[in-house]
Order: sequence, then C-alpha cells, then structure tokens
Amino acid sequence: MKRFKKVFLVCLISIVFCFCFAVGSAAMCADADGDKVLSAGDARLVLRISVGLEKATSAILQNCDMDYDGKITAGDAREILRLSVGFGRSDDSGADGFEGAAPIGITDKYYKIYNINGFTFIDGLLIANKTYSLPQGFAPGGLYEECETAFNTLQSAAAKDGQYMYLNSGYRSYASQASIYTEYVYYYGYDYAEAYAARPGHSEHQTGLAIDVTNSSGYFTGSTQAAWLHEHCADYGFILRYPEGKSDKTGYNAEAWHIRYVGKAHAQKISASGLCLEEYYGITSAYA
Ligand SMILES: [Zn+2]
Repeated sequence: MKRFKKVFLVCLISIVFCFCFAVGSAAMCADADGDKVLSAGDARLVLRISVGLEKATSAILQNCDMDYDGKITAGDAREILRLSVGFGRSDDSGADGFEGAAPIGITDKYYKIYNINGFTFIDGLLIANKTYSLPQGFAPGGLYEECETAFNTLQSAAAKDGQYMYLNSGYRSYASQASIYTEYVYYYGYDYAEAYAARPGHSEHQTGLAIDVTNSSGYFTGSTQAAWLHEHCADYGFILRYPEGKSDKTGYNAEAWHIRYVGKAHAQKISASGLCLEEYYGITSAYA
C-alpha cells in the first residue's frame, strides 16, 4: 500500500509538472502570436530555442513558428546567418550547434540534417539548393557582413597578384529571383532556366552568402581571374559552388563565377576534398 502511495505521488507530480510546462509553452507562444507582431525579444528567444542554444523541446519548436506571418525581420535574418556560419567552423568534434534540436534525418555521409522553421542546416551551414529551400520571408536585405568583408579581402589579394575581379551579383531577394527565373523561362525556355537559374526560394543568393564574380571583360569562365579565384577562394572562406563536371550533383551547369561563403574552416576542408558541397555532405539537389 505504501508503495502504491509512492507511485501515485510520483505520477501526480509528473502530471502537474507536465501540465505547468504545457501551459508555460503555450503562454509563451500565445504571447508571441497574440498581437500578430513578433517582438524582437520574442523572435530572438524563438531563434535561440530553435537552434538549441536554450534547452528546447519539440513541443516548443512545433508550436512557436517564427515564420507564421511569412515575414522574418532583417535582424532575425542576420542572426540566422550569424548562426549559419558560426557553428562547427573550427572544430572537428562533430558538434554542430544544434544539440538541443531533433534532426529530421541523416545524410548519405552521416551528417545530421536540421530543419528549423524552414531553414535547413547541415554541419552548421545553411543549405539552399534544389532540394532544400528557404522561407519566402527570409530577406536579409544584403550580403552578410562577414561574407562581404571576406570578399573584399579576397579581391585585394587577387589585385596584388594582378588579377582584377569584381562583385557582379550578391544578395537577391525572393522576389527578384522570381523575376529572373520567369525571365529565363520566357526568353530561353524551361530547360535552360532550370539549368542556370534557381526557382525562387531555392537560390543561394537569397542567403546573402553567395557572390557572382566577374572581370573587366565580362568573360569569366576560363579566364586567369577564374583560375585565381578557384585556387585561392578557400583561403578566404569561399567554395566554388557549381564546379565543372558536377552538374548531376549540384543540379546546375558549371558556373565558374559563383562562390559561396562557408567560413575558412569549412571552405578548406570541402575544397581539399575535391568534392562539391552536395557530394561532400551526401545530399541531393533536385526539386521535389
Ligand atoms: Zn550565382
């Protein structure tokens, strides 16, 4: 009988605890949703929880959707970018910064895949390709500062070697990508558009972490500038995203000009492997 009482008491405490927790979580979400405007503080909290900086539970993740109104503030976007290049950049411990969240799967190369409010992270990197899209409301509004600074440094170093290169296209919003894609389809046809232009929501340019490089002639492929870029970009934290001979993996024809910022540590290990990003992590790039 004594034992029964003890079990009963433990059950009761558990039920009360669960109830309080559920109410607490709901209240937090209600607070976030109540006035249709997510306060900066709430947004940051949701973000912190989302990426596992706070002890997260799937209940909170499922109930609090920061993208509920389709808009993500520029500040939040920058925070996502900061996080997206901030994890796992310098250690090989396997820590990817998302220990508090549940992965949605494992890649063919055994990396955990996290989908946090519509953003896909693998090895701490924000992924955007034909398989993994970005939320429509994600609009950082420009290149991520760290990426821009790294490109400026790269550009100066190239100039010192007599190779002058320039930023041709950096950040592109969801809307501008939509018009580019539509234009390509209209002028060049569907197949060409699919091979060269991302559908809106699938462009790396929307992340603010991708840059198209050009030279003074405008003919970049096969130029000495392209050769310099491919040889040195990893030293500045960039990888060549769509290399020659990898279109079946990347989903795009080769682009000698398109580089993606992933931070130095990631760039050096990916580049040293001789693999493109999709091969390196064992992921696909194909529209569903
Ligand atoms: Zn590009």
